[in-house]
Amino acid sequence: MTSIAANIRHIYEQIKHIQEHHHMQPTQVELVAVSKHCSVPQIEEAIAAGQRVFGENRVQEAMQKWPDLKRRYPDVKLHLIGPLQTNKVKESLELFDVIEVVDRPRLVEVLAKYDPCEHRPVTFFVQVNTGQEEQKSGVLPSDLSRLLMLCEEQGLKISGLMCIPPQQELPSLHFALLANLAKRHHLPYVSMGMSGDFEQAVAQGATHIRLGTAIFGSRS
Ligand SMILES: *Cc1c(COP(=O)(O)O)cnc(C)c1O
Repeated sequence: MTSIAANIRHIYEQIKHIQEHHHMQPTQVELVAVSKHCSVPQIEEAIAAGQRVFGENRVQEAMQKWPDLKRRYPDVKLHLIGPLQTNKVKESLELFDVIEVVDRPRLVEVLAKYDPCEHRPVTFFVQVNTGQEEQKSGVLPSDLSRLLMLCEEQGLKISGLMCIPPQQELPSLHFALLANLAKRHHLPYVSMGMSGDFEQAVAQGATHIRLGTAIFGSRS
């Protein structure tokens, strides 16, 4: 077994262990393999190990690696987990299956302009800036209701929330806040937890965890 395959298997074992430990329903947590900075052979190693869901944080990089990979592995799903500029919306709707980073009115309006019937089905999450960090994207928690209302008006269906907690803070408060907001707005999906804190995220009800380093090793 390759190390990537072993890492993936180990992560699924950890998820199962955490759910048992917390007496949770053994629900399926979607492991999003974050392949930013990874080569195509590394990605193919993960695919060979059975991994089918991947995440990229830069549209440009994803456009270089993924159109060909998706042609060759049509059942693979790709998530956008980094900032989306409005001038990249069209190509993003053609490439990504889940866009986790809806975060501002202008982006909602541009996304909603594209007729979903003319496109592949795409799932949307709203990114919440739970730490209210100025340099980070994401809607502020206090502006979330208004943004979700706009999405509804514009016909953009939102299925979940996503966050990236501030680096110096305990992630658990941010995970609790995000899970709460999702519940309050009746959104089924919660994307939270990275390599350093995914155990905590799973324990707090993450439906999607986004792991790069734990699968592919550290990015140089
Ligand atoms: C890079 C990245 C991850 C994965 O980070 P690791 O610590 O390598 O697991 C998750 N989410 C986002 C938004 C990222 O940019």
